[in-house]
Amino acid sequence: MNILVYLEERNGQIRKPSLEAVGAAHALGGTVMVAIVSANAAPLADRAKTLNVSAVFIASDPRLEQYSSHATAKALAEIAKQAKADIVITGATGRGKDLAPRVAILLEAGYVPDVTAFANTSGEIVATHPVYAGKAQMNVRVTTPIKVFSTRPNLWKSFEETPSGTPSTTPITVHFDDSDFREHTKELVLSQGKLDVAEADIIVSGGRGMRGPENWALIENLAAAFGGATGASRAVVDAGWRPHSEQVGQTGKTVSPTLYVAVGISGAVQHLAGMSSSKTIVAINKDENAPIFSIADYGVVGDAFEVLPVLTEEIKKLRSN
Ligand SMILES: Cc1cc2nc3c(=O)[nH]c(=O)nc-3n(C[C@H](O)[C@H](O)[C@H](O)COP(=O)(O)OP(=O)(O)OC[C@H]3O[C@@H](n4cnc5c(N)ncnc54)[C@H](O)[C@@H]3O)c2cc1C
Repeated sequence: MNILVYLEERNGQIRKPSLEAVGAAHALGGTVMVAIVSANAAPLADRAKTLNVSAVFIASDPRLEQYSSHATAKALAEIAKQAKADIVITGATGRGKDLAPRVAILLEAGYVPDVTAFANTSGEIVATHPVYAGKAQMNVRVTTPIKVFSTRPNLWKSFEETPSGTPSTTPITVHFDDSDFREHTKELVLSQGKLDVAEADIIVSGGRGMRGPENWALIENLAAAFGGATGASRAVVDAGWRPHSEQVGQTGKTVSPTLYVAVGISGAVQHLAGMSSSKTIVAINKDENAPIFSIADYGVVGDAFEVLPVLTEEIKKLRSN
């Protein structure tokens, strides 16, 4: 079974969800190969060789300086054909979720998004993914010869290992035409110096219970004490209190941190869809009947404005020891 993993790059580095996708591929078993589609693939290819993979495929073109959906999908599908891949995996990042279904169409492959678990019984792959905003899990057996999956970030063990051998790097020629670049990313705006909520191990998220953006220092201080990132509910993002890049949920980011602290968030099903796979969930809410408590491992029924300063000081003390 040949498994090809797409390596997503940001600022010249391979992104963590891609390393996790390599981890998922190794867990599945078979021959693991990786694909890099970039304006300058060579430095990443060297890094990719440390991932204990059998082959590194690269497709380069100066016009791939910024992500382009059609061109990248065309290149990845071409690599998959030449690598004789049975399975193609991307991380279920914003880009991965854009790319994977396009590649599936080009390869006439079945596609399962946001996979949280795989079962491999003698080569028959069953992929599990959440449906109905995380209310249920669906087990899907894909019957097409080639299968495409995206794996949910922060659930899989990243794969970083010194290889036993040195894999070859194979450049693939892709015949792009101008129409492949009919759309491309003009600019990628990242919160400067801030940890991306989708990649953070600890997240402190605030909701409408925080009453306004002027109170966000309380959320930021607790996140800083933990060394984590800040998140937000959609109500807060829609109100313009926080940027969309921080939104957690069905129409925001899917997160699976070790610790998720929900402050003044009621726990609507669309919010839970983005964070219910967090390993430990702590809820702070003044309404003891708030739905968030039904999935929380620890709950504080109380006023966030009283609880947050005390909790932040205690965490600072604990961490300084
Ligand atoms: C198609 C669709 C997609 C959606 N996608 C998302 C999504 O991606 N992410 C998302 O979050 N939502 C999403 N929503 C919106 C979702 O349904 C809820 O409206 C939203 O999550 C509510 O945000 P909230 O919990 O911050 O606000 P509220 O529901 O208003 O809850 C505020 C909470 O704060 C508590 N509170 C108030 N004051 C205090 C205090 N002083 N101390 C402590 N607690 C306090 C209250 O008891 C309450 O529980 C979506 C909705 C739809 C229809």
